[in-house]
Amino acid sequence: MKISPFTLIHNRSADSKEKLQSLLEARMQAVQQAEPTLATSLQKQSPRFMETLLSTTFGGSGIGSSNLTEALPNLQRVISELERQPDVMRIGIWDLGARVGRLPQVIEVLNRVQGAFAIFEVEAAIPAGMISRPERVVAWARERLGSLPSKKEREEIESNMIADDFYRRADVVRKDLDLHYLVGITPSMVAFEEEESVHWNYFATYDNRLILASTYDLRKFAQRAGRLFEVAVGGVICSMLLVAVNPRLEYHQDNTGCMFDMNLDRESIVRSIREARIEERCLNLMIPKYRSVAAALNEALRTYQGADPT
Ligand SMILES: [Zn+2]
Repeated sequence: MKISPFTLIHNRSADSKEKLQSLLEARMQAVQQAEPTLATSLQKQSPRFMETLLSTTFGGSGIGSSNLTEALPNLQRVISELERQPDVMRIGIWDLGARVGRLPQVIEVLNRVQGAFAIFEVEAAIPAGMISRPERVVAWARERLGSLPSKKEREEIESNMIADDFYRRADVVRKDLDLHYLVGITPSMVAFEEEESVHWNYFATYDNRLILASTYDLRKFAQRAGRLFEVAVGGVICSMLLVAVNPRLEYHQDNTGCMFDMNLDRESIVRSIREARIEERCLNLMIPKYRSVAAALNEALRTYQGADPT
């Protein structure tokens, strides 16, 4: 199977530490023999990240020459991305059943246009308990609201995923892969607790190094905006990531068609998807080094028309 270079497969292997270590060394040696410069660059990366990258690109348990032939161009591509500038942040995107089919293509484009973030698609088993059954989400909300939600509220709440359930389990994956940020994409809406109040029906939220983004209704909204679904998903991910890395930047309650509209009225996201712009006032709230990055990401999404016909 041909995989995109920007893929990381999370694998908690049952093999012994010694066996994994010797496999890693054999792979490294194979790279060293074929491309010594590439091997040197790989050794400069974080060890846990490099291990995953090698096992993903080599595939399964292989070290043979055909594995090497397939691995080399992908490793090269990733390394050139990571060495493009100092302190590149490694970002993982983990699809939790949202089925964003063309996500790898969008990731490639977003990586191409800027150098601050190297974005990877993460493949990992979804841990038990991460995605709550509707009854549990309703019970969670009831406990915090201190009262019984109305029938309408209950119906809405049932379509949410609890961000805390994601954070607790996702941080293990983030640390295993040694990523700076991990973004989960859920087909549900997002519910979370903040300063003793509960919120639900959100498109995204984050806590420290973990971001939870939702695709609920997004196909419909993207279609209404005349844009591709994966562009809308990319917009939600990029805006949340930019808020996470810029302490002064926040979503604003007035919806102006900006990437940082809060979209409490969910339908208002149609305008944000269609207009795909970042206001001057929002750019000014960013750390200077992220301003051109944000503009490049936004422009890439605004002009994206689908995968290159290759
Ligand atoms: Zn704005």
